[in-house]
Amino acid sequence: MWTYEHSNLALRDVLRLSRAMTFKAAVAGLPLGGGKGVIMLDPSEPVLSPARREAVLLDFADAVEALGGAYQTAEDVGTSEPDMRVIAERTSHVCGLASGSGDPSPWTAIGCEVALRVAVERVFGSPDLHGRSVAVVGAGHVGGALAELLAEGGADLLIADVDPSKRALAERLGARWSDDPATALAADVDVVAPCALGGVLDAETVAQLRCRAIVGAANNQLLSDDVADAIAARGILWAPDFVCNAGGIINISVEFEPRGYSPERARVRMDAIGDTLRTILDAAEAEGVTPLAAALTLGRDRIAAGQPA
Ligand code: NAD
Repeated sequence: MWTYEHSNLALRDVLRLSRAMTFKAAVAGLPLGGGKGVIMLDPSEPVLSPARREAVLLDFADAVEALGGAYQTAEDVGTSEPDMRVIAERTSHVCGLASGSGDPSPWTAIGCEVALRVAVERVFGSPDLHGRSVAVVGAGHVGGALAELLAEGGADLLIADVDPSKRALAERLGARWSDDPATALAADVDVVAPCALGGVLDAETVAQLRCRAIVGAANNQLLSDDVADAIAARGILWAPDFVCNAGGIINISVEFEPRGYSPERARVRMDAIGDTLRTILDAAEAEGVTPLAAALTLGRDRIAAGQPA
């Protein structure tokens, strides 16, 4: 649920997001396709009254129901678990309810931490986070949980968000705080973790980067695919977003397993994100291509094979 200036922009976003979902599921070896729903808020009414919000969510639920189960919805930016409960009043095709796999965000954060350690190992020779500096840009459901995990791991954190209330998290974790995401993205840190919205990496922002690796939860971090080449040319490792942020969908996919949902099995699956990222980075190195190109090739191969790995 997000505010868009024009419905064309919402349409473009949902198409980019659904493409990312397709590759995310394929690369993770899940027996799922890819889909995404966007609820467009009008700039003239960016915050809905509770009654309007409920009506909008029920409309969305009707659209999901009309697809007859071909599309399963779950929470993401701008929505939370109570919203999913409203949607569930009109359709059974909702994942991530407390009665099922629950909020996917903490799992996305776990998967990101696994990926971040793999990237750190690649660049610095050890996955140990003690003494490693990380800028978490966007401290929402995923970024906030990731920051907690990184702090537990001993990382030296910079937390940035446009929402000043997130400063309290930074203080609690002993992290540096910034209310200027652009500065945080270009901070002199080992790793930048983009965890807000997409499109943050373009020719201009890449030229300003001072980190050695980028690993985050945000979908569609690159404004366009060719930005991956610009990042590689600067000697910076970009771990493909749709590989790193698959924890939420992997956790949800456990709901569809014959034995039903189990957090223990979900946790084991999170480590597979690290294995997948290693495979992709190895292939990129061996073939002299970017990690994005290697990840897209892996995804396309799996889609063509029409079956999970
Ligand atoms: P969220 O809405 O909970 O958090 C987003 C945070 O980013 C908020 O704190 C917001 O204030 C902040 N923010 C907004 N604009 C910003 C900017 N320009 N700079 C810095 N901070 C900004 O969303 P979330 O669920 O944590 O998702 C974050 C990203 O991860 C999104 O791109 C989402 O698509 C992606 N993602 C989320 C999940 C999931 O499980 N929730 C799974 C995969 C991918």
